[in-house]
Amino acid sequence: MLLLIPGPVSTHPAVKAAMTRDIAPWDDDFRALYASVRSKLLALAEVDPAVHAVLPLQGCGHFGMEAAIRTMVPADTGRLLVPLTGSYGVRMARLAREAGRHVIELPIPPFSPIEPSAVAAALRADAAITHVGLVYSETSTGVVHDPAAVGAVVRAAGRAMIVDAVSAFGALPLALAAQPEIQAVVFTSNKCLEGMPGLSFTLARIDALERATPAGSWCLDLGDLFRHTRGHGAGTFRFTPPAQVLAACEVALDLHRQEGGAAARLARYRANSRALRHGMEAIGLIPYLAPGVQGPIVMNVRAPDDPAWSLQHFVRELKDRGFLISNFFDTPEPSFRVGCIGQVTEADMHGFVTSVDMALSSMGVQNRGPARRAA
Ligand SMILES: *Cc1c(COP(=O)(O)O)cnc(C)c1O
Repeated sequence: MLLLIPGPVSTHPAVKAAMTRDIAPWDDDFRALYASVRSKLLALAEVDPAVHAVLPLQGCGHFGMEAAIRTMVPADTGRLLVPLTGSYGVRMARLAREAGRHVIELPIPPFSPIEPSAVAAALRADAAITHVGLVYSETSTGVVHDPAAVGAVVRAAGRAMIVDAVSAFGALPLALAAQPEIQAVVFTSNKCLEGMPGLSFTLARIDALERATPAGSWCLDLGDLFRHTRGHGAGTFRFTPPAQVLAACEVALDLHRQEGGAAARLARYRANSRALRHGMEAIGLIPYLAPGVQGPIVMNVRAPDDPAWSLQHFVRELKDRGFLISNFFDTPEPSFRVGCIGQVTEADMHGFVTSVDMALSSMGVQNRGPARRAA
């Protein structure tokens, strides 16, 4: 079964094979593996280990985001501006609020990239805002936002930024060394890095970690995690790690480098996304977004306006043909969504398009055009 979802993704057989042994995470052999994953991630991010640290945390992306926000945004004096890019922007705002942080929401037009001038205006209007929380690739809409352009206005205003790069890191570019306003970037093992789920990583500025006030949660305190690493070594965890996930991550990072790094991975994802768009259009389906705003990670396609359409039925038909897509949609009007990331090639996308065509025919869908919104 090929997973065409925006994470967890289909993985390489060698990544799966790395998970088939028992591991003692406090053993010296494992410490070397863990330290090596960390140094490979610093190399991938092209950062100076004297300036940035990489902090692995048990749990998925939400855990990493909450830890980064708790660690970087002080509970008393911090103010986090969150552009509402879509579901993940909304989730970031909720995470921060439930962690007791002060949140200011910045509504933005749906399905369009954040205008840096809107962020600049919000920062001018409220001098108490200390941080901007940016979703790099908004997985609900498929829109990729611009951390360099948004970061430039944040830097000019003397504020800091936290980036949710969960569906971006490993493929989309991020020049951390050139963006000192970015205090923390969060990502996971199981999206563009093409590893297994169970771990988040935060790349954080060491100066910000050293200044950080207590997070209000021992488990989610990246400052504490950093101090532990300093005291005990890069190969040690505070609490039991998902060791097999780390072992798989090391293999995934080696495959990433062999493929040609982030640029090569992005090129493959773009080719997947293009093949998907052309294929959908060729069989009469309409992607939700225009090519200019469509990012390469995930694509929403408008659902056919036909009484025979049922997303759950469609998902089952596709599973019977070897492809798994999301069984929910996250757009105002009905759609289905397809991930373009993971161990997936353009040829797989061509096969997927053929399967969609067959699935719709077998469901008896006559009209493949989208539902029109009532006036
Ligand atoms: C996947 C994702 C997350 C984290 O999701 P988890 O299920 O917690 O791993 C966060 N932000 C974005 C943009 C994502 O795509």
